[in-house]
Amino acid sequence: MLRPMNPELREIPWDRVIAAASPAVANALEKSLAGGDLGFEEGMTLASVEGNDLLALAKVADELRRRTVGDRITYVVNRNLNFTNICIVGCSFCGFSRGPDSPDAYFHSTDALLAKSLEAVERGATEVCIQGGLPKDLDGYYYVQLVRAIKARLPELHVHAYSPMEITYGIEKTRMPLSEYLLMLKQAGLNSIPGTAAEILDDSVRRSLSPNKLKVRQWIEVIKTAHSLGIPSTSTIMYGHTERPEHWVRHLLLLREIQKETGGFTEFVPLGFIHSQTKLFQIGGARAGHSPDEDIIVHALARVLLHGYIPNIQVSWVKLGYEQSLACLEAGANDFGGTLMEESISKAAGANFGEYVSPGEFRALIRTIGRIPAERSTTYKIRKTFEFPDAEETMPSSRMPMLGATTSHAPVSASGY
Ligand code: SF4
Repeated sequence: MLRPMNPELREIPWDRVIAAASPAVANALEKSLAGGDLGFEEGMTLASVEGNDLLALAKVADELRRRTVGDRITYVVNRNLNFTNICIVGCSFCGFSRGPDSPDAYFHSTDALLAKSLEAVERGATEVCIQGGLPKDLDGYYYVQLVRAIKARLPELHVHAYSPMEITYGIEKTRMPLSEYLLMLKQAGLNSIPGTAAEILDDSVRRSLSPNKLKVRQWIEVIKTAHSLGIPSTSTIMYGHTERPEHWVRHLLLLREIQKETGGFTEFVPLGFIHSQTKLFQIGGARAGHSPDEDIIVHALARVLLHGYIPNIQVSWVKLGYEQSLACLEAGANDFGGTLMEESISKAAGANFGEYVSPGEFRALIRTIGRIPAERSTTYKIRKTFEFPDAEETMPSSRMPMLGATTSHAPVSASGY
């Protein structure tokens, strides 16, 4: 397994590593360093690297990261609000959704979500990230009503909400045109949307994972329309299930084309598939999640293929754990995502760990790889750079992120999306 965290590897200059790589890999990486856009074949060359070639990919991705955004590693102080886990879509990779009669099904009230938002702001949050399941009887205007309720009390709080799947569901329920629906959300105070529910942007893969999910064409339409209305979004991929390297490359090149046209993506977030509690894995339909080498390749490949277009590559610490997140932050990524702030719930439920990293813990982790922590807004405006350690910086103890409830757009998605 590649470990860019090893201090000896960290010190090796990228040009020395390229010299040890195979000619095809070296050519592709040199082209990228010279500012060229890599095509499908070059992407495929990089997507299946190992050994010295993998090290070269990681080191060059790290160099491109340095040239693009410098040595700061950013994070956002945010809170996830998952208003319901009831969902009718039935994605086979999802370990989160429940039927309406399930004993652990929930639908939080607007008052409860407002209270969570207020608590988050008191604890320093600048963003709430709102996503949920799709219940059969959801009112198509629920999404806009929730944004209005939060914005009425907390007008400064950035509301990052609703995947393209949820937006599509809202349109279906209200029968409003897409642009009008998005405009209604924007006027209510929606600031940005998560580019989740992307999984793999290939209809044949999507059909096998989740035939009821929106199609590639619909995902693109929601994203492009949002961007055209001045609503930025993130972009994501879910990897480590049934897909192959060619799907990573096509997916990244598609995102690059959208970004060339709209400029509306703030970041790209690879989301490793957490397999254990999913139907897809249990019926033998997928491999056992993402491997450490895949993590490095996907993050580094994203940095290289999106270079010049999407400046921020985010790690999902909930999916990767801390050590592997740091490894990816040395292989092209530059953002640690959000605090998520669900600690109180998990602790109340008796868990040893929760969906929460404190800002001080983020900063302590970032310093272990010699980089500079900085808090950002959702749209990557730097709020504060922490040049020197402070008293709040402590390493996370034995708490590790909860792994096991996979969805690409709901509860354990660890980004600021
Ligand atoms: S991934 Fe989302 S849409 Fe699919 S079943 Fe889970 S909650 Fe529902």
